[in-house]
Amino acid sequence: MTQDNYKDAIKDPIFLVIAEAAAELNVASYVIGGFVRDFLLKRGIPKDIDVVAVGSGIELAQKVASKLPTNPKVSVFKNFGTAMLKYNDLELEFVGARKESYHEDSRKPIVENGSLEDDQNRRDFTINAMAISLNKNTYGQLLDPFNGINDLANKIIKTPLEPGVTYSDDPLRMMRAIRFATQLQFNIEEKSFLSITENKDRINIISKERIVDELNKIMNSSKPSIGFALLHKSKLLPFILPELSALQGIEEIEGHKHKDNFWHTLEVVDNISENTDNLWLRWAALLHDIGKAPTKKFHKKKGWTFRGHEFIGSKMVYKLFKRLRMPLNDKMKYVQKMVLMSSRPIVLSEDFVTDSAVRRLIFDAGENIEDLMILCEADITTKNTKKQRKFRNNFKLVRQKIVEVEERDQIRNFQPPVTGEEIMKTFNLKPSKEIGILKEAIKEAILDGTIPNDYNEAYNFMLKKGKELGL
Ligand code: ATP
Ligand code: MG
Repeated sequence: MTQDNYKDAIKDPIFLVIAEAAAELNVASYVIGGFVRDFLLKRGIPKDIDVVAVGSGIELAQKVASKLPTNPKVSVFKNFGTAMLKYNDLELEFVGARKESYHEDSRKPIVENGSLEDDQNRRDFTINAMAISLNKNTYGQLLDPFNGINDLANKIIKTPLEPGVTYSDDPLRMMRAIRFATQLQFNIEEKSFLSITENKDRINIISKERIVDELNKIMNSSKPSIGFALLHKSKLLPFILPELSALQGIEEIEGHKHKDNFWHTLEVVDNISENTDNLWLRWAALLHDIGKAPTKKFHKKKGWTFRGHEFIGSKMVYKLFKRLRMPLNDKMKYVQKMVLMSSRPIVLSEDFVTDSAVRRLIFDAGENIEDLMILCEADITTKNTKKQRKFRNNFKLVRQKIVEVEERDQIRNFQPPVTGEEIMKTFNLKPSKEIGILKEAIKEAILDGTIPNDYNEAYNFMLKKGKELGL
């Protein structure tokens, strides 16, 4: 146990309020977990504060609230014995110190009141089990029974108890270990990692929502590949994202090899993470090639092909989101669209680019055109510097072309220059399929470049087309 003073971590006046409230209730209290860890990592003073009371956490929360000038509302989670309140920009969570024992088939422990040490024993990692005292005689002292401070310095993720016990008790911790390894760029201790591998099947008792929470934290890290590589190595990945596992491996027939699309994908995700914080664009990068496993074929003449993998992949996105209980809303549709369109700019960058191909790309991508370009640029993972330069340069040209064409033709937020009502009035039509045909013909003429995106030209075109249709 260290006697050092960590008063700098608890300078905020809120800690004096907590200490006073705890003293009045005659319970010992400590700030614990992520707050202490992130302070020691010099990630700044965290706004999330977890307090453990040796006694009732709920009563302590209520006492603290009554002392605060804003008299904040206390949210009580009776089943968990926790309570939460917000004060200014701080989020305080209170829990009573507890001792937990687990059953084989559930994440739900049998909970008893316990000491601070009992509570530290049930924590997931040594770096998350450190506490700072808020009690009178020991105020500001660090209580670190597992030498978490050392593990922080050595950048190592270790469980306080035997890893087999910690992971089997609550298999979500396997995901948390990998998530922290990714966020902090720490290593998971070898025997801990081995234990994750052994306990991998137990991930099945964890709810999809909690798994996805961890996946999103991995995804929001600066180098998400660390997490996905660990999920792969520990063999957890097939339980969570089998579509990605299926991309791993290289096949060779008659001297033809294809690239390993799993490791390629991880590079793409890291690349894109340098250029965007948009979680869903990062998901699109992760899933952009999942259609390649089910569409892979070998042709004697062409070698390996993945025909239609973008379309199949976008269909798989829906099933994957549904299985993982992810939102089936506009975010999912956005990911589908990015996957579906993920090869479009590449085709343009390879061939001679016509204005009309660029117009169609802008029309189909709409407001997501910039995101799509970011995705395609991230997709360049060749190690051949000459090729890399060439691809980058080609995309630069596509981007230039997009700007030119967009300036001239304004396709991005395309609105038909002639409305359906005007078509009806001109030809004296009731709502009918002819209106749709005319509107489509005008749109196609503009995208093809037969006419400019302009009212008068479109109107004349409509008259001509109408005549052809005998209207
Ligand atoms: P972050 O808030 O950045 O995700 P954190 O460490 O604060 O990191 P929380 O989920 O907020 O993580 O949990 C707070 C603390 O509660 C952790 O530091 C850890 O001590 C403990 N904890 C959380 N989840 C578990 C778990 N599944 N098993 C054991 N202890 C846990
Ligand atoms: Mg936290």
